[in-house]
Amino acid sequence: MLFIEKSKPPRSLLKFVALQKSVNLHPSYKDLRSPYIDDLDTILYQQQRGVCCYCMQVLPQSSSLRTREHFLPESKFKLDEVNYYNLYLACTEKDGTNTGHCDKTKGDILISKYIGHPNCEDFFKYNRKGEILPQKLSFEEWGKFSQSTKNDLFETSPETAEILATISILRLNQKELVNKRKDFISDILKTIMFFTSREQCESEIQKYKSSSVKNPQRFAGVALYFLREHLKKIV
Ligand SMILES: [Zn+2]
Repeated sequence: MLFIEKSKPPRSLLKFVALQKSVNLHPSYKDLRSPYIDDLDTILYQQQRGVCCYCMQVLPQSSSLRTREHFLPESKFKLDEVNYYNLYLACTEKDGTNTGHCDKTKGDILISKYIGHPNCEDFFKYNRKGEILPQKLSFEEWGKFSQSTKNDLFETSPETAEILATISILRLNQKELVNKRKDFISDILKTIMFFTSREQCESEIQKYKSSSVKNPQRFAGVALYFLREHLKKIV
Protein backbone atom coordinates (compact mmCIF):
# COMPACT_ATOMS: atom_id res chain seq x y z
CA MET A 1 0.00 0.00 0.00
CA LEU A 2 0.99 3.57 -0.58
CA PHE A 3 0.23 6.84 1.22
CA ILE A 4 -2.19 8.97 -0.83
CA GLU A 5 -1.66 12.62 -0.11
CA LYS A 6 -4.77 14.76 -0.48
CA SER A 7 -4.68 18.39 -1.50
CA LYS A 8 -7.64 20.75 -1.09
CA PRO A 9 -11.10 19.50 -2.13
CA PRO A 10 -12.13 20.41 -5.69
CA ARG A 11 -14.02 23.73 -5.77
CA SER A 12 -16.87 22.17 -7.71
CA LEU A 13 -17.43 19.63 -4.92
CA LEU A 14 -17.56 22.39 -2.30
CA LYS A 15 -20.01 24.23 -4.57
CA PHE A 16 -22.22 21.14 -4.81
CA VAL A 17 -22.25 20.76 -1.01
CA ALA A 18 -23.07 24.46 -0.53
CA LEU A 19 -25.88 24.31 -3.13
CA GLN A 20 -27.47 21.27 -1.51
CA LYS A 21 -27.28 22.79 1.96
CA SER A 22 -28.73 26.09 0.73
CA VAL A 23 -31.98 24.27 -0.06
CA ASN A 24 -31.84 22.17 3.12
CA LEU A 25 -30.86 18.96 1.34
CA HIS A 26 -28.34 16.48 2.67
CA PRO A 27 -25.41 16.43 0.18
CA SER A 28 -25.72 12.90 -1.13
CA TYR A 29 -23.24 10.95 -3.23
CA LYS A 30 -25.98 9.62 -5.52
CA ASP A 31 -26.90 13.21 -6.44
CA LEU A 32 -23.33 14.02 -7.42
CA ARG A 33 -23.63 14.17 -11.19
CA SER A 34 -21.70 15.72 -14.06
CA PRO A 35 -19.76 18.03 -13.97
CA TYR A 36 -19.14 17.61 -10.21
CA ILE A 37 -18.46 13.89 -10.36
CA ASP A 38 -16.11 14.30 -13.36
CA ASP A 39 -14.02 16.92 -11.57
CA LEU A 40 -13.81 14.75 -8.49
CA ASP A 41 -12.78 11.68 -10.49
CA THR A 42 -10.08 13.59 -12.37
CA ILE A 43 -8.53 14.97 -9.18
CA LEU A 44 -8.60 11.60 -7.41
CA TYR A 45 -6.98 9.98 -10.46
CA GLN A 46 -4.19 12.56 -10.50
CA GLN A 47 -3.55 12.30 -6.79
CA GLN A 48 -3.35 8.54 -6.90
CA ARG A 49 -1.05 8.81 -9.91
CA GLY A 50 -3.20 6.42 -11.88
CA VAL A 51 -3.09 3.45 -9.49
CA CYS A 52 -5.66 1.74 -7.27
CA CYS A 53 -5.69 2.99 -3.67
CA TYR A 54 -5.38 -0.50 -2.19
CA CYS A 55 -3.69 -2.97 -4.53
CA MET A 56 -1.59 -0.43 -6.53
CA GLN A 57 -2.51 -1.90 -9.92
CA VAL A 58 -2.86 0.59 -12.78
CA LEU A 59 -6.37 2.04 -13.15
CA PRO A 60 -8.02 2.33 -16.58
CA GLN A 61 -7.61 5.72 -18.28
CA SER A 62 -11.32 5.97 -18.98
CA SER A 63 -13.17 7.36 -15.95
CA SER A 64 -16.23 5.25 -16.81
CA LEU A 65 -14.14 2.15 -16.07
CA ARG A 66 -12.97 3.31 -12.63
CA THR A 67 -14.93 3.22 -9.42
CA ARG A 68 -14.96 5.66 -6.56
CA GLU A 69 -14.41 4.11 -3.19
CA HIS A 70 -15.79 5.38 0.11
CA PHE A 71 -13.12 4.60 2.68
CA LEU A 72 -15.69 4.95 5.46
CA PRO A 73 -18.55 2.96 3.90
CA GLU A 74 -21.24 5.10 2.28
CA SER A 75 -24.01 3.02 3.84
CA LYS A 76 -22.86 3.64 7.41
CA PHE A 77 -21.22 7.08 7.35
CA LYS A 78 -23.79 9.36 5.75
CA LEU A 79 -21.98 12.53 6.87
CA ASP A 80 -18.92 11.47 4.88
CA GLU A 81 -20.53 10.32 1.64
CA VAL A 82 -19.35 13.38 -0.30
CA ASN A 83 -16.40 14.13 1.96
CA TYR A 84 -13.46 14.50 -0.41
CA TYR A 85 -11.08 13.09 2.22
CA ASN A 86 -13.15 9.91 2.35
CA LEU A 87 -13.10 9.29 -1.40
CA TYR A 88 -10.54 7.31 -3.39
CA LEU A 89 -10.38 5.43 -6.67
CA ALA A 90 -10.24 1.66 -6.61
CA CYS A 91 -9.97 -0.97 -9.30
CA THR A 92 -13.19 -2.66 -10.32
CA GLU A 93 -14.24 -5.73 -12.23
CA LYS A 94 -16.02 -3.63 -14.82
CA ASP A 95 -12.76 -2.49 -16.43
CA GLY A 96 -12.61 -5.91 -18.12
CA THR A 97 -8.83 -6.13 -17.95
CA ASN A 98 -8.59 -8.54 -15.03
CA THR A 99 -7.16 -5.89 -12.75
CA GLY A 100 -10.50 -5.60 -10.97
CA HIS A 101 -10.06 -6.64 -7.39
CA CYS A 102 -10.61 -4.11 -4.63
CA ASP A 103 -14.09 -2.71 -5.20
CA LYS A 104 -15.87 -6.05 -4.85
CA THR A 105 -13.51 -7.17 -2.10
CA LYS A 106 -13.85 -4.42 0.48
CA GLY A 107 -17.53 -3.66 0.07
CA ASP A 108 -18.95 -2.00 3.17
CA ILE A 109 -16.31 -3.21 5.60
CA LEU A 110 -14.44 -0.73 7.78
CA ILE A 111 -10.63 -0.95 7.70
CA SER A 112 -7.77 0.97 9.31
CA LYS A 113 -6.67 4.10 7.53
CA TYR A 114 -3.24 3.12 6.26
CA ILE A 115 -3.66 4.78 2.85
CA GLY A 116 -4.19 8.10 4.65
CA HIS A 117 -1.17 7.65 6.95
CA PRO A 118 2.00 9.51 5.87
CA ASN A 119 4.08 6.50 6.95
CA CYS A 120 1.79 4.01 5.23
CA GLU A 121 4.63 2.15 3.51
CA ASP A 122 6.33 1.49 6.86
CA PHE A 123 3.51 -0.75 8.02
CA PHE A 124 4.00 -3.33 5.25
CA LYS A 125 6.67 -5.45 3.67
CA TYR A 126 6.82 -8.05 0.89
CA ASN A 127 8.51 -11.39 0.37
CA ARG A 128 9.86 -12.82 -2.86
CA LYS A 129 6.79 -15.00 -3.27
CA GLY A 130 4.87 -11.76 -3.90
CA GLU A 131 3.01 -11.77 -0.59
CA ILE A 132 2.35 -8.64 1.48
CA LEU A 133 2.75 -8.86 5.25
CA PRO A 134 3.03 -6.60 8.31
CA GLN A 135 6.45 -4.94 8.62
CA LYS A 136 6.85 -6.04 12.23
CA LEU A 137 6.13 -9.69 11.54
CA SER A 138 9.21 -11.76 10.70
CA PHE A 139 9.17 -13.74 7.46
CA GLU A 140 9.39 -16.88 9.59
CA GLU A 141 6.35 -15.91 11.68
CA TRP A 142 4.48 -15.04 8.47
CA GLY A 143 5.31 -18.46 7.06
CA LYS A 144 3.80 -20.14 10.12
CA PHE A 145 0.81 -17.79 10.13
CA SER A 146 -0.05 -18.25 6.48
CA GLN A 147 0.26 -22.05 6.73
CA SER A 148 -1.80 -22.29 9.90
CA THR A 149 -5.49 -23.05 9.84
CA LYS A 150 -5.84 -21.83 13.44
CA ASN A 151 -5.08 -18.15 12.90
CA ASP A 152 -7.09 -17.16 15.95
CA LEU A 153 -4.44 -18.83 18.12
CA PHE A 154 -1.68 -16.69 16.63
CA GLU A 155 -0.40 -14.19 19.20
CA THR A 156 0.65 -10.80 17.93
CA SER A 157 0.61 -7.10 18.82
CA PRO A 158 -2.66 -5.14 18.29
CA GLU A 159 -0.98 -3.16 15.48
CA THR A 160 0.14 -6.27 13.64
CA ALA A 161 -3.27 -7.89 14.17
CA GLU A 162 -4.92 -4.82 12.62
CA ILE A 163 -2.64 -4.93 9.58
CA LEU A 164 -3.26 -8.65 9.16
CA ALA A 165 -7.00 -7.96 9.26
CA THR A 166 -6.67 -5.22 6.62
CA ILE A 167 -4.67 -7.50 4.33
CA SER A 168 -7.26 -10.22 4.81
CA ILE A 169 -10.32 -7.99 4.22
CA LEU A 170 -8.81 -6.50 1.06
CA ARG A 171 -7.63 -9.97 -0.01
CA LEU A 172 -4.25 -8.51 -0.86
CA ASN A 173 -2.77 -11.99 -0.82
CA GLN A 174 -5.22 -13.37 -3.33
CA LYS A 175 -3.38 -15.79 -5.62
CA GLU A 176 -3.70 -13.81 -8.86
CA LEU A 177 -2.51 -10.59 -7.24
CA VAL A 178 0.37 -12.37 -5.47
CA ASN A 179 1.50 -13.87 -8.78
CA LYS A 180 1.52 -10.44 -10.45
CA ARG A 181 3.50 -9.02 -7.53
CA LYS A 182 5.92 -11.95 -7.65
CA ASP A 183 6.75 -11.28 -11.32
CA PHE A 184 7.12 -7.58 -10.58
CA ILE A 185 9.46 -8.27 -7.61
CA SER A 186 11.54 -10.66 -9.70
CA ASP A 187 12.03 -7.91 -12.33
CA ILE A 188 12.80 -5.17 -9.82
CA LEU A 189 15.35 -7.33 -8.01
CA LYS A 190 17.13 -7.99 -11.32
CA THR A 191 17.43 -4.22 -11.78
CA ILE A 192 18.42 -3.47 -8.18
CA MET A 193 21.20 -6.07 -8.01
CA PHE A 194 23.33 -3.89 -10.29
CA PHE A 195 22.94 -0.81 -8.10
CA THR A 196 26.21 -0.31 -6.24
CA SER A 197 25.85 3.34 -5.28
CA ARG A 198 23.35 5.18 -3.13
CA GLU A 199 22.79 7.64 -6.00
CA GLN A 200 21.54 4.89 -8.33
CA CYS A 201 19.19 3.61 -5.67
CA GLU A 202 17.93 7.06 -4.70
CA SER A 203 17.34 8.01 -8.33
CA GLU A 204 15.18 4.88 -8.81
CA ILE A 205 13.29 5.70 -5.57
CA GLN A 206 12.53 9.14 -7.00
CA LYS A 207 11.17 7.53 -10.18
CA TYR A 208 8.58 5.66 -8.13
CA LYS A 209 7.81 8.58 -5.84
CA SER A 210 7.29 11.01 -8.70
CA SER A 211 5.12 8.85 -10.94
CA SER A 212 2.11 10.49 -12.58
CA VAL A 213 -1.03 9.62 -14.52
CA LYS A 214 1.01 9.88 -17.71
CA ASN A 215 3.47 7.39 -16.34
CA PRO A 216 1.73 5.41 -13.59
CA GLN A 217 3.96 3.05 -11.63
CA ARG A 218 2.08 -0.07 -10.62
CA PHE A 219 3.14 -1.64 -7.32
CA ALA A 220 5.17 1.48 -6.48
CA GLY A 221 4.99 0.64 -2.75
CA VAL A 222 6.50 -2.78 -3.48
CA ALA A 223 9.35 -1.27 -5.49
CA LEU A 224 10.02 1.33 -2.79
CA TYR A 225 10.23 -1.39 -0.14
CA PHE A 226 12.91 -3.38 -2.02
CA LEU A 227 14.82 -0.25 -3.05
CA ARG A 228 14.96 0.99 0.56
CA GLU A 229 16.07 -2.43 1.76
CA HIS A 230 18.84 -2.40 -0.84
CA LEU A 231 19.85 1.11 0.15
CA LYS A 232 20.41 -0.07 3.75
CA LYS A 233 23.03 -2.55 2.48
CA ILE A 234 25.02 0.08 0.56
CA VAL A 235 27.65 1.66 2.81
ZN1 LIG B 1 -7.20 -2.53 -6.49
